[in-house]
Amino acid sequence: MAEEAEEIPVVYLHDIRRQYQQGETTLTILDGAKLALWAGQSVALVAPSGSGKSTLLHIAGLLEQPDEGEVYVGGDATSGLSDAERTRIRRTEIGFVYQSHRLLPEFSALENVMMPQMIRGLKRSEAADRAREILAYLGLDARVTHRPSELSGGEQQRVAIARAVANAPRVLLADEPTGNLDPHTADHVFHALMQLVSATRVAMLIATHNMDLAARMDRRVSLENGQVIELD
Ligand code: ADP
Ligand code: MG
Repeated sequence: MAEEAEEIPVVYLHDIRRQYQQGETTLTILDGAKLALWAGQSVALVAPSGSGKSTLLHIAGLLEQPDEGEVYVGGDATSGLSDAERTRIRRTEIGFVYQSHRLLPEFSALENVMMPQMIRGLKRSEAADRAREILAYLGLDARVTHRPSELSGGEQQRVAIARAVANAPRVLLADEPTGNLDPHTADHVFHALMQLVSATRVAMLIATHNMDLAARMDRRVSLENGQVIELD
């Protein structure tokens, strides 16, 4: 059983097409893009600005619907699902990290990490215990009561990562998560992401311009003419 499950990608993008209407013209951003994300594998998405990285991540994260093609999560097609069902999958199976932390400013680090768990229906005490555990795992035990404004950029981003994995997602999507950080801090945040992949076997896709970090990941892909190509 376990072996069989391993052979199904956590997320599979099949022949994804995405176009945007720009006045009179139609921009084709993704054009038959295919990508499989596997449990325990980190994938770098390295491509120029404007080539469709964020669009691809949003589609993989069920934040945006493709015009054509199918997004499979755990082998199940998602295009026919209701908004409520897509939202449920997003909350339980998918973690998202952005370039800016997007933490709620009036809440502590702990509360920010508790939030997605409580939205999913966990009791406050259970959510707090788990939030503490994840924050400690990411080296933030001394920062749980801090608000985002009282944290450094790297700490804010690690709290955002803790929040993204609070519900133990099967896939973690990160859109230039170290793009705002200095090299040393970027390294620290990247380490936190990689640590989570090996500890939890989450499938990870990171859009990044940082070639050093990309080189340390399991696999590298790019976007060319709207399609995903393997690098190396
Ligand atoms: P990247 O993340 O690689 O920089 P994006 O996925 O953000 O690229 O954008 C790809 C292209 O699609 C860009 O040319 C962008 O201007 C265009 N685009 C993205 N979102 C929209 C939108 N909502 N409406 C119109 N054009 C968009
Ligand atoms: Mg982008």
